[in-house]
Amino acid sequence: MNNNNPRSSSLEPSPCHYKGRFAPSPSGALHFGSLIAATGSYLQARQQQGEWLLRIDDIDPPRVVAGATGQILRHLETYGFEWDGEVSYQSQHQARYRDMLRQLRQQGLVYPCGCSRASLATHLDPAHPDVYPGICRHGLAPGQTERSLRVRTDNRVIQFQDRLQGPQQMAMETECGDFVVKRADGLFAYQLATAVDDALQGITEVVRGADLLESTYRQIHLQQLLSLPSPVYAHLPLACNTLGEKLSKKTHATAIEQLPVTETLYQVLAFLGQNPPPDLRQDATLQELWQWAIQYWQLERIPRCRQITLEG
Ligand code: GLU
Repeated sequence: MNNNNPRSSSLEPSPCHYKGRFAPSPSGALHFGSLIAATGSYLQARQQQGEWLLRIDDIDPPRVVAGATGQILRHLETYGFEWDGEVSYQSQHQARYRDMLRQLRQQGLVYPCGCSRASLATHLDPAHPDVYPGICRHGLAPGQTERSLRVRTDNRVIQFQDRLQGPQQMAMETECGDFVVKRADGLFAYQLATAVDDALQGITEVVRGADLLESTYRQIHLQQLLSLPSPVYAHLPLACNTLGEKLSKKTHATAIEQLPVTETLYQVLAFLGQNPPPDLRQDATLQELWQWAIQYWQLERIPRCRQITLEG
């Protein structure tokens, strides 16, 4: 959690104000890996009598798969997830992203960048290949045209205490570098949309996969620049296949419709270190499994690592 956060004195968000969320991208069906993030965020909210919001991160039309949103909602229902309020859609939040970008621009915190991936390749520091080397920071070179917009980083060090992965810190300018907030194809970047939505939706705690740990610095950086509150974060271990790859559509993870519902939820709870009793595996209904899970859920039991290999 960052220094601007009024809740920074306590790691436990107050139960009466707890607001969590699950924010899948509709780029394909849910799979075991996404179910882990859904379950972890859901149980964390439900156990604290908090709210759990469902947000569809559909700001990237080229990656949206037709029918995926409906399928995700159906699958979540099949697994017994109950979200609070209406589902929200990032595609309907364009005005707020535009407004936030305008605020950054007015403060001189964003600048046009003319670099393409290819033109950047020869300028990158091999020790920090992900850090933008600042080529357009002081203006576009003559003849260059604007492609994307980048937000400036400075000498601040972003620190937060991840509830599962421990203390985290990054020197923004040297380890992260100025990053894209509006893409060359004109779309708002994930970092901006998520930072803005989490803050404006009043999310108090984000529970999601550890693949997004690095994004958290960027999101907190944006929240600080925009004087928005930051949530507390807990990054769950990722489920990987035996090749060490994250389960995803790309790595051909089995879509959850092909998995047996109660058995899969049981396995998710086991993955999350909750030690569900073996008799629940045989006899429990979905509802009984959730009852057990909400009653006995303990974040502290989740393995504190970034990834876990699934055998078989
Ligand atoms: N939409 C992102 C994804 O499906 C997750 C966003 C988030 O949890 O911050 O990977």
